[in-house]
This record gives sequence, C-alpha cells and structure tokens, in this order.
Amino acid sequence: MPKYVYDFTEGNKDLKDLLGGKGANLAEMTNLGLPVPPGFTITTEACRRYLGDGRMPDGLEGEIGERLAALEMRMGKRLGQADDPLLVSVRSGAKFSMPGMMETVLNIGLNDDSVLGLAKQSGNDRFAWDSYRRLIQMFGRTVLGIDGELFEDAMDDLKGERDDTELDAADLQRLVETFKGVVRARTGRDFPSDPREQMDLAVRAVFDSWNAPRAILYRRQERIPAGLGTAVNVVAMVFGNMGPDSGTGVAFTRDPGSGRQGVYGDYLRNAQGEDVVAGIRNTVPLQELETINPQAYRELIGIMGTLERHYRDLCDIEFTIERGTLWMLQTRVGKRTAEAAFCIATQLVDEGLIDMDEAVTRVTGDQLAHLMFPRFSATNGNRKLTTGMNASPGAAAGRAVFSSERAVELAGRGEAVILVRRETNPDDLAGMIAAHGVLTSRGGKTSHAAVVARGMGKTCVCGAEELDVDTHAGRFTAPGGVVVNEGDVISIDGGSGAVYLGEVPVTASPVAEYFEGGPAEDELVRAVDRIMTHADSVRRLAVRANADTPEDAARARRYGAEGIGLCRTEHMFLGERRRLVEDLILATTPEERQAALDALEPLQTGDFTGIFTAMRGLPVTIRLIDPPLHEFLPDLTELAVKVALAGDRAGDRDRRLLDAVKRLHEENPMLGLRGVRLGLAIPGLFAMQVRAIATAARRAGGARAEIMIPLVGAVQELEIVREEAERILAEAGVEAAIGTMIEVPRAALTAGQIAEAAEFFSFGTNDLTQMTWGFSRDDVESAFFGTYLDLGVFGVSPFESVDREGVGRLMRIAVEEGRRTRPDLKLGICGEHGGDPDSVHFCQEIGLDYVSCSPFRIPVARLEAGRAALTCAESDAR
Ligand code: ADP
Ligand code: MG
Ligand code: MG
Repeated sequence: MPKYVYDFTEGNKDLKDLLGGKGANLAEMTNLGLPVPPGFTITTEACRRYLGDGRMPDGLEGEIGERLAALEMRMGKRLGQADDPLLVSVRSGAKFSMPGMMETVLNIGLNDDSVLGLAKQSGNDRFAWDSYRRLIQMFGRTVLGIDGELFEDAMDDLKGERDDTELDAADLQRLVETFKGVVRARTGRDFPSDPREQMDLAVRAVFDSWNAPRAILYRRQERIPAGLGTAVNVVAMVFGNMGPDSGTGVAFTRDPGSGRQGVYGDYLRNAQGEDVVAGIRNTVPLQELETINPQAYRELIGIMGTLERHYRDLCDIEFTIERGTLWMLQTRVGKRTAEAAFCIATQLVDEGLIDMDEAVTRVTGDQLAHLMFPRFSATNGNRKLTTGMNASPGAAAGRAVFSSERAVELAGRGEAVILVRRETNPDDLAGMIAAHGVLTSRGGKTSHAAVVARGMGKTCVCGAEELDVDTHAGRFTAPGGVVVNEGDVISIDGGSGAVYLGEVPVTASPVAEYFEGGPAEDELVRAVDRIMTHADSVRRLAVRANADTPEDAARARRYGAEGIGLCRTEHMFLGERRRLVEDLILATTPEERQAALDALEPLQTGDFTGIFTAMRGLPVTIRLIDPPLHEFLPDLTELAVKVALAGDRAGDRDRRLLDAVKRLHEENPMLGLRGVRLGLAIPGLFAMQVRAIATAARRAGGARAEIMIPLVGAVQELEIVREEAERILAEAGVEAAIGTMIEVPRAALTAGQIAEAAEFFSFGTNDLTQMTWGFSRDDVESAFFGTYLDLGVFGVSPFESVDREGVGRLMRIAVEEGRRTRPDLKLGICGEHGGDPDSVHFCQEIGLDYVSCSPFRIPVARLEAGRAALTCAESDAR
C-alpha cells in the first residue's frame, strides 16, 4: 500500500507531483528551519484514488489518524480538546497553483465546548467566538455547499454600519447561533460537532473541489491536466485574529509587476488569512508593518531574503502574526507579469544567482508574445476617470459589462468588453476569459482579479476605489459624477492603472518595435535583447517564416527569420486573377489550357521575384498549389440563382461555370482533388509554377529556391513531379532543392521510400493532424472539442499543440526512416504548430532542423528553440 500521508519534515520542494505545490513548499520551508506551524500532507495519489473509486482508499483514514496523533502529541493538545483545543486548517494544494479555485477550511476542531476552552486558554472571548463563526461559515460554504451569501447577509445584518473588528464576543456568539441555524435550515442537520468528523469531511470536500466546475474551467484555460488531483494539507492553526498585535498578510519578494526589488505586499490587522484575498476590509501596505511591529517586520524581510536566495527566484508568501510571533503559511515561486519575468531573469543574472542559460529557461514564449501586444498611445483627449492599481499589463478598450454572464454574451457576439466588478471571485472566471480586460474597485495586487488576470496575461486594473460600482443597476459612477452605463466604452491601462472614458487608440509595444529594429533602451527591452541574443546562441533549431508576400517576408526577416519555410502559392490566384483560374478550369482543349497557364506564368514569376528579393541569400520554400480548384470558383447557390434569374439571357460563361462548379463539387474536399493530385491531373499546372520559380530565381539573384510538393502519399507521385521539375530547372540552368510535405499519414509511414525522391521533408501538421485523427478541423472544433477537453480526451487541442503520442509518433517514424535513406535529408515543420512553444520543444526532441511559423511568432519560436536546446532531451535520431 502506498504511503498517503507525509509529515512536513518528510517532504521537499521537488515533490510537487505528490504533495502539491503548497505541501512541497511547506515542507521545504520547514526543513529550512523557517517558522512553519507543524502539519502533514495527504498526497495527490490519495486524491486520485478517491476520485477514481468514489471512496477513501484503504488505509488512508488510519494513516491520517496516526499522523494526527503525532501532531497532537507534539502540540500537547488534542484536536478539539474541550479545555484546550488543537485547531487545524485543511487546505487544498495542487501541483500547479490554482488561486482560489479550490477549498480551504480554517479553525477545524471548534464546537460548543472547545470554543469555551479556546476562550479560556487565550483569555480572549472575542477571538474564540470569531474563530468559531469563521469555521461554521467556511465549513458551511465549502463542505456543506451552502450559499456563502446567506452567512454574509446574516453578518451584514448584525454589523450594520460597523467594521467586522468592531463586533464583540457577545455579537459573535449570537452570530454563531445564527450560522448554526442557517446550517440546520439548509442541510436538515446540525453543524457537526465531532472534530475528527469535521476534519474528514473537510478532506473529502477538498478532494471533491478538484472537480468543481470553476476548477475545471480554470484548468482548461491554463492547460493544467485534469487527472493530477490535489493534495490536502492539514496545518496546526496560528491566529492572526487575536487582537491588534496579530494580523495576516501576503507579500512578494520583489515587485511582480516590474521585477524591481523592494517590499510588496498587503497586511491586515486582527484578521485571518482568507480576509486578505477576499477583500473584506482594506489592507495596508506591508511597509506599515515596520511601524506596527518592527521586530516581526525585520524577521519577515530576512526570511524573504532567505527564500529568494534558496529558490533563486521571486517568491510569494503568506504569513500570519500571532501576538507578535511570525509564522510562515505558504510560499512558492511567484507568478509575475511577462515584463517582470524578463527583468527578474536578467536581474538575477546580474546578482549572480543564475546564469544566462538559466535566464533563458526562466521566461516563456507566451510571455514574450504578451509583451509584443500594443499599448495605449497618447490619450488624445480621453477623459481619465480614475487611476487604480496596475495589476496586469497591456491595454484594453471595450464596452463596460457588470456580470460574467453579460461578458460572455457580448463577447460571443464579437464585442470587446471590459468586465467591471467590485471584486471578482472564482465564479467570474468565464467572464474574465471572455473580456479583453478586467476592472475592479476593490482589492490589491494580490486580489483574485489581479492574480487570475496576470496568470491569463489579461489586462487588469484593480482597486480603483474612487469608482462606485453598482453591479445590479449595471453602472459605475466615477469622481465628478460621471456615470458609465453598461455598454459604454471605456479603456483601461494595465501598465499605469488609468481608466479612461471612451476608446483610447493603441500603439505598438517597445518590444515589438525592438524586433522591428528599434533601440534597446529601457530595462525591459534590454532584458529581452540579452535573453534573445543568448537564446539564439544556444538554439540548434533554425527558425523560418510562413510568408506569402514580399511584405511578410521582409517583416519575418526583421524578426529574425532565417528563411521561408512555407510560401503558399494559392494566395497568388485570388482577386483579379481568379478569372484566369476559371479560364484554366473551363478550358476544353490543351491549347485553351496552355493559354490560361501562359497568362498566369508572368504573374507568378513577379510574385516569386518579390519574395526572393526580400529573402536574398536565405532559403525560400515554395509550395506548389495545394487547395482544390473549385475553391477559386463562385459559390454554387449564387451562381445557380444568377443563371436561373437570367433565364435564356444567361451568359455562356456563367452556364459553363455552373457546370464546372457542379462537376468539381466534392463531398470531402480536404480528401479530394488537391495538392500533388492536381499537379498530376492537370497537365502543365505544376510545370508553369516551376518555370515561374526558375525565372524568378534567375532574376532576383542570390535566390535559394526550394520547391515543395504538397499532399504526397506515395513516392511514385513525387517521382513523376520531380522528373518534370528537374527537366525545367535544368533547361533554365537553375538549381533548386525538391522536397515534399509530410502531411498524409501514408507519407510518414513510407518516408523511407519517399526520401529517395525528396531532398527535404516539411511536416504539414495541420493536415497530418486532421488525417491522423480523422478530424475535419473546421467542423470538429466548434462541434465537440469543448466536450472532449472537459472529458479529458486531450488536455489541449491537437491543432494547437502537436499530439505527441499519435501525430508525433508518425513524425518520429518519418524522421528516422527518412534519414536512414538520406542522411542529409533536411527536416522542418510548417504547420501552425511551428509557433507553438510545446510543439517547438517536440521538434527539438525528434531532431528537426527548423521550425517555420507566422512572422509575428518568429521571436517566440526563437526563444522557445533556445529554451528547448537547454532543456529537452534529444532523441538519437540524428
Ligand atoms: P489558498 O490556496 O486559496 O490561498 P490557503 O490554503 O492558502 O488557500 O488558505 C487560505 C488562507 O488561510 C491563507 O491566507 C492562509 O494563509 C490561511 N491559513 C491557512 N492555514 C492556516 C493556519 N494553519 N493558520 C493560520 N492561517 C492559515
Ligand atoms: Mg494560500
Ligand atoms: Mg496541408
């Protein structure tokens, strides 16, 4: 039987899979000798078993009992002991932090007897009753599933105009009775008074919270696998609500917004931890603790330094001060903005804590992409309504909406919306995902809104206290009496915290400008420059662009592309040129067909010349025409109506076009007459394209053309095309490599043969994914991918990240067998996966030579290729 329960002294920070992040780090802090209340962790494995079998795994309850007994022994009191109770918290904690998504219950062990014992032992009646009412409230909400508002309303009624700290022991005792009444009315049972029963129920509730709808939604958004489960931490309580010399707080070891060193945090006197995040009362900046309790403050600053040096990174922490004594309740390597991630990584290098290799692994392509987002340009006359806290950067403009539902609804109609709330809670998650930005009037940089928005890379301004938000009426009032109603456009600046009326125009980010060739002046851009330079120096994968026009090619080059991995030629048959394609389709004799091709050739030559010129000296892979020809024809219904309406007067061309549309109609165009099949079915089509490439290559000078044949499934297809192409190239006196896409499963499976006729392979992972899974992309994504993600069939769409086991296996086969035939076979990828961080790492693992992606993703791919070179184990395919 596996061991399900670990004492804090038994774990360490590397056991996150088993102990969850919170448990692993509590253990790490314990072993560092920091003041952590004793406790133990129930493993994620216990949770997985519980969720799988629907009951507690055998042996777990006994093991918990043993650990609890040891804890009781150590503390010298028993859980809920009437005259001097040990109290514990039962806290969720998964491998990946899911802020506020799951449950925690404090003060377990209190009942009508032990509350008196606690009062007596502490000499503080108020504190004892406050703790008891908190237990019933948290337990009622999270374990018994009672609507939290029932408790809040009861408390509000009692408080009237008072602050919660102004309630005295008698008030709180009355509140406990009211709360117990709520529990009885809602569940038909009394609040459980047996401490061990309280604890066991809380443990189950934490396990169950793994599958709460909001947790599922959050995991999907953050791509956290559904099968991990959560650990549960049972921690001896320490009390921040024992009076004015007690309190609780959260802090970062440096500014999570900019990376600057200093003291960043919030502190709340006479409170328990959940009050800080919930924004019940307004916190004070952590600096004020220096005056409130200088000794605890100094100790805290010292511990923060210890943690930074130990983790060699920014950490965030939760702490509580009980009658002047500091206790650490949580730490982890802290979430940070994208900007801070780059700045901190280079700061840590300069401080000698990490080297440049590690700095590269400390930032991600997603963060870099985020920094390339536009920001507000000078606000041209927009009225500034107020300034809140700059909780998560970026700039967003949209219609104000006041509920998660409205946000989802309007965003569904394609509207940009800003979700405005007093404060957010986990139920607002769907609205936060739908919104362009989030604005709250309460809560600090560590509030729910701030933490979640930063995690999502979404612009957020929080704690804009001057705004009077009335969510029921759907409006807020700003200073000066300006009223913003639902639907009015506002703009928020996550960099400065400013909130503006109306839409503020945006400009490019300095990082995007840097990639366009701008200067590396401010700290952020310098950090990006250093990290990109180092990533380029360590990466093995080359990075190319998917670009079809000289403009895209030029931009790609500025962004650091080392060639074009995919130049699609079908875009060159659109607009005015459609008519020529129609001529080609309508041709009834070889002469007519050749005439149409002759008309297309100079246009193609011009297109290619432009691209070769822009990419002079770098390889350009040109893919011969890929889509079915009927895509270039008019719509069947429109054409049929036109012909029918015209009756006898209908033109001959329209009639013939209508015939052609009908004739060429395919049930399943993705599997129909396209790619190499077109080239073989329509004589002269590919030859025309190859001639155009050859002419352009000669004209442009310095061109390095590569000709790529799409949709090949058998080496015979490629051989036929190759023979003709080689002849044309030889006649023109131009050298060009000839290769193929690997996008039909059969091509991957017969790659050893195909490599006989191909100098390079480029994985077309969009088609390869479609055909491997049998998914018609345009149909499946909206039809059932949501369900599949919910059911955990896959954690992320295989169209976003390469499906390693299936599609990836085919790729591995193609790499191995292709290279066996032709050791110098050049291998790349040109599907949209080429710019996806996880897929870039996979390409590194299987030994590709390059990835190709859209120009704007080039910096991301460069960075991820650097990271992959430093972190991926490479297969021995090379
Ligand atoms: P979350 O993951 O939502 O932050 P936590 O498990 O960290 O939930 O707990 C919620 C709050 O309760 C935090 O502020 C935490 O510091 C506080 N807390 C948890 N356990 C204890 C304890 N044993 N004593 C005092 N405060 C606690
Ligand atoms: Mg916490
Ligand atoms: Mg394709």
